[in-house]
Amino acid sequence: MFRPRAQIRPRTYPPLLFHPLGGCGEIGMNLSLYGYDGHWIAVDCGMTIRQDLPDQPLQIPDVDHLAAHAMVPSAVFITHGHEDHLGALAWIWPRWNCPVYATPLAIEMLRAKFSEQGLRVDALKPIQPGARVAAGPFGVTFLPVTHSIPESCALSIITPRHKVLHTGDWKLDERPLIGAPFSAAQFQALAPVDLVVADSTNADVEGHSRSEAEAAEALESVIRECRGRVVVSCFASNIARIKALGAIAERTNRRVALLGRSMERMVSIATQLGYLDDFPPRVPANDLGYLYAEEVLIIATGSQGEPRSALSRLSQGRHPALDLLADDDVIFSARAIPGNERPIARLKAGFKRLGVNVHDEHTDPALHASGHPAREELRQLYRWLRPKMLLPVHGEASHQQAHRELASTMDIHVPQLAKNGVVLSLDAETLVPSGTHHLRPRLIASRMRPGERTNPVSARRHDKSLSIALNVLPTATGWTRIGQMIWDSEISLPLDEDALADWLDERIDAITAETLLQLRQQLFGPLREWLHERLPVSLEIHLQLMPADPQPEYEVRTAP
Ligand SMILES: [Zn+2]
Ligand SMILES: [Zn+2]
Repeated sequence: MFRPRAQIRPRTYPPLLFHPLGGCGEIGMNLSLYGYDGHWIAVDCGMTIRQDLPDQPLQIPDVDHLAAHAMVPSAVFITHGHEDHLGALAWIWPRWNCPVYATPLAIEMLRAKFSEQGLRVDALKPIQPGARVAAGPFGVTFLPVTHSIPESCALSIITPRHKVLHTGDWKLDERPLIGAPFSAAQFQALAPVDLVVADSTNADVEGHSRSEAEAAEALESVIRECRGRVVVSCFASNIARIKALGAIAERTNRRVALLGRSMERMVSIATQLGYLDDFPPRVPANDLGYLYAEEVLIIATGSQGEPRSALSRLSQGRHPALDLLADDDVIFSARAIPGNERPIARLKAGFKRLGVNVHDEHTDPALHASGHPAREELRQLYRWLRPKMLLPVHGEASHQQAHRELASTMDIHVPQLAKNGVVLSLDAETLVPSGTHHLRPRLIASRMRPGERTNPVSARRHDKSLSIALNVLPTATGWTRIGQMIWDSEISLPLDEDALADWLDERIDAITAETLLQLRQQLFGPLREWLHERLPVSLEIHLQLMPADPQPEYEVRTAP
């Protein structure tokens, strides 16, 4: 009989580390890092709008400490196209300079933001739902889920030792209007998982979320009763809702117009990806005045009371293309995001003053379909996944707590309620804190919002500009600045020239671009950010890079 001569000791594996930088104890700004054996990946990179601060700045996650702790991710995985999951990436990516994997719709949204910031877009890698990507010791599979934007995915994250499911945002929708219904099989195939990192948004809501198809039916029955113009306000990213409105317009003999830049932009991306193939031809906003009231269906952004939106102008009778009159109807087909109650109430009061009928989640609850799972859906997913442990994220503390209670009724262990900045360590048996990093709020003035430079206010021609010209010299690894910096502006600026020169030197030395064009692309966005943070006025910025050796501008630099 065979007897081992030496005792075989179980091999020891490193723990899996989980480090959330946003999204825990708050809704918005999701960013989670996973680390294993010295390798790190990031999941999502979202932003939040600080409604509570003057001028409503953007907040992005604080990632300053990552470099010093060797935690810079080598790949980013984006679960879906919502701003709270990808809105900060164009600001943060230049520090990471790594591949970004996402489904095509999210990639197109990122492409627009990256281009806007002057970043190169070749790091953006479109992935089809179902595909698997290897990143160091991690195997990451994109599992399609239903949510309020197409192509949303949960991520199965596998290391040599661990099986984690990061749910992203999801709901269990059997009639999603775009994309396949929620599939149980792909989750049953994963069971049992060690850990599920899970959407807590509606963990305190009993029951089941409404299907997108039901919301569309409710919209249609309200619109059928309308006699005048109809304005429906929804989120631009809810492409299924927009598609449904196109079909409803055709069935109710109305012509469709879109109002709002972000609506135009999303519809153009969705059309390009084939999601709106049967969408009816759109009427230009300026032609709306020529149509009979009962022929008009307008789809508009601005449901959150954004002060400069088309909807807000309509409510004040100040829209250049259209006046709403008594017996026209405005339908809010989006839930009020907490914190926006006041501007939304102002908006609705404006419509009521004009005699316009207002329909919303209070008059017709079926108009809204949440994109997040209520408790019945959470239980269903966990029956399929059979997780050993659960970590509630994507929610305020009360949602995380409700999620923990639900899990405990299913005998799923919730060892921790994650907080932003903490590092949790997962071994075979449990999840324990292994460190904390203090995070500072990183705010960006909202006038610099990536992707929104074309909105009516900021698209107004800048009457002030600043031109900067630099001489740069190729080095072994990139470029360096030499000689005098020249800057020129029609107005006097409180600009600290030395600080700018120091910042430019440090920045240019750190960029490993091969060509002047690449250097300019990587320098311009951060330069604009740096200047906007320090100057009291919004300026149009011109950056000219002049090669110090005799090569034409933008030509590919050959190796010495
Ligand atoms: Zn979200
Ligand atoms: Zn979402």
